[in-house]
Amino acid sequence: MKSVVIFDRYNGVDLKPAEMFNDYVKLTAESIQSFFLTNSELNKCTCPGCGSQQVSTTFEKFGLKYNECENCGTLYISPRPADNDIVRYYRESPARILWRERLTRSTDKTRKNKIVNPRFAWIEDSTLEYLDNQKHYVDINTDQEVYIEAIEKSQVFDRKTLINPFLQINSEKKDLSIVDKGLDSIELEGDVDVVSLFEVCDHTSDINLLFQKVSQMLQPGGICFITSILASGFDFQVLWDKSENLFAPDRLNVFSVKGFRNLFTRHNFECLEFSTPGILDVENVKATAGRNPDVTLPKFVQNMIVDGDDSVRQAFQEFLQTNLLSSYARIVIRKNG
Ligand SMILES: [Zn+2]
Repeated sequence: MKSVVIFDRYNGVDLKPAEMFNDYVKLTAESIQSFFLTNSELNKCTCPGCGSQQVSTTFEKFGLKYNECENCGTLYISPRPADNDIVRYYRESPARILWRERLTRSTDKTRKNKIVNPRFAWIEDSTLEYLDNQKHYVDINTDQEVYIEAIEKSQVFDRKTLINPFLQINSEKKDLSIVDKGLDSIELEGDVDVVSLFEVCDHTSDINLLFQKVSQMLQPGGICFITSILASGFDFQVLWDKSENLFAPDRLNVFSVKGFRNLFTRHNFECLEFSTPGILDVENVKATAGRNPDVTLPKFVQNMIVDGDDSVRQAFQEFLQTNLLSSYARIVIRKNG
């Protein structure tokens, strides 16, 4: 199995300007209250990674309960809203409107250059590496508009389909079929070569339905690209409930490496690549500790990350990438024939 390390430089503030991000978090707390806590039904679930019911620790964030799976370390919200309530939240909540209209637009260029374009280069190169005849590409439930343009531009596939009730996408875009429906009504059967899930495992309530649908639409040997945040990554392990970007529904599930592997095996997928090329773990810990007086870092982490040299921080981030210990994952899985 492949594992890739990437050395790139940008920082979190390039993607999430502090003041606007604070507004987003504040609005998220209010939107969760009005969309999920007062107006929708919440249902209990087991670990989305391994299916275990055993929980080792819990904490609350904005009125919803995070559970840490005792078996695989996946962090997940339960009880949780259903997928159609989450779609409504992404389309209509003031928090997500702010995200679309202010936050992502002001950071569009950095996002395109530093995240989206490299991801498409990865998808295209890996597709050509793993498949001989790639015709049909399907992207599912992306909540970021910036991807749509990149999908439109991609020259590697003959046919491209967007399954997406989350965004209101202009249906006149050429070369794209747009399916504006929830996953439960999708009936694609075995004619798809490549699927992408950009941070989709993170905000999907019924994870087993998602993987059943991906499996059903892919032909045997077809591949699926996943990007996601990991609970087993360094910054989440250190900051835990004080992680600033940990809240529903963007982070309804935060899988561990073990949790993801369990999910793939359960749905009969083989893992071709599992990399954690994140570059923000160390910076996130340093910045959060600087802002939040309630964060107490272990002495070693404090010495190395807050008081240490840049070169040590950089070397430690590279160590995290190499050993699958960063909190950003990129994964390729293949449907077994
Ligand atoms: Zn688990």
